[in-house]
Amino acid sequence: MEKIKVGILGATGSVGQKFIQLLSEHPYFEITSLAASERSAGKTYKDAVNWFMQTPIPEKISNIIVSTCVPNMDCKIVFSGLDAGVAGEIEEDFAKAGYAVISNSKNHRFDPDVPLMIPEVNSEHLELIKEQKYGKGFIITNPNCSTIGLSIPLKPIDDLFGIETVSVVTMQALSGAGYPGVSSLDIIDNVVPFIGGEEIKMETEPLKILGKYNNGKIEEAKINISAQCNRVAVIDGHLECVSVKLKKEATEDQIIECWKNFSGEPQKLNLPTAPKFPIHYFEQDNLPQPKLQRNIDKGMAVSIGRLRKCSILDYKFVILSHNTIRGAAGAAILNAELLAQKGLVG
Ligand code: NAP
Repeated sequence: MEKIKVGILGATGSVGQKFIQLLSEHPYFEITSLAASERSAGKTYKDAVNWFMQTPIPEKISNIIVSTCVPNMDCKIVFSGLDAGVAGEIEEDFAKAGYAVISNSKNHRFDPDVPLMIPEVNSEHLELIKEQKYGKGFIITNPNCSTIGLSIPLKPIDDLFGIETVSVVTMQALSGAGYPGVSSLDIIDNVVPFIGGEEIKMETEPLKILGKYNNGKIEEAKINISAQCNRVAVIDGHLECVSVKLKKEATEDQIIECWKNFSGEPQKLNLPTAPKFPIHYFEQDNLPQPKLQRNIDKGMAVSIGRLRKCSILDYKFVILSHNTIRGAAGAAILNAELLAQKGLVG
């Protein structure tokens, strides 16, 4: 198919750079516009950005002139990696002007007519777009990075056995704080037991994600979730120690089986960014680890290990997912691929 023109809002930031890296050779999409703050506008991308990806700035991107975030960009889709302080209004302006807005920011995640999408988990929530009042444009959001890593393994367990309670303790990577993020003197030889706003996101977002679409609305899942979030000195990859209480009895083998068999719409449609297997289970006692597993299946798979009985709830296990790929830019690109395949953009 002819490539769909896309723009990136917040193109100079940590998520924006990841968008550029992941989209530079994309089979469906072609980057035609880049936007950021007044500080960057008017400069070529290479002069505006402090590029810190491990691959060079793609040739055809480096001389694009960065614009301000006004909806006169030559594209159909805009990916937003905007600072949450400004994302809300700018994203609405673009939707009203007829663009498909695919956002990473928190601002619209709980709008009742906005899908909070993980395509393997709740692609049927796309129906919500029909309820939006933006005319031809619309907004889709992806969840917070640690919520995505948590919700994917919870989905097949909830479908088969029902989940009553979840307790999760995270060890979250530095790249999740954007660039330059946490100062080196704060994080070397240290763990910071606080990430602003993160625990409430982890306790509420899975309820909408695992909720049921019914007649233009989402009925939220009824699960008690308690989260404790910590920043650790890892560059990429959030690790999460999870305990769950189930509604029905399950064996360890049944749980591992349901993870191994799990797949969804992106796998069925063979979307370019979809992992072949959304969940990889590791039998080794010392896995998963950020350095070893974060890039599995293009950084889009969730790795799990250490499933065992919990003496307080029923089972406990460890999850790892790449926060800027599966948890941010890759997640948004997968959402856009699903829209393109369903004929909703282009
Ligand atoms: P970041 O590195 O601080 O980048 C922020 C971007 O927003 C920059 O491009 C910046 O442009 C732009 N911006 C700031 N103020 C602006 C304004 N007044 N008008 C227009 N543009 C403005 O942040 P990030 O880590 O990429 O995060 C971006 C968003 O994604 C946040 O909402 C964050 O919560 C969310 N998110 C991040 C992650 C992650 O792992 N990092 C994961 C999931 C979700 P200038 O360079 O011109 O200032």
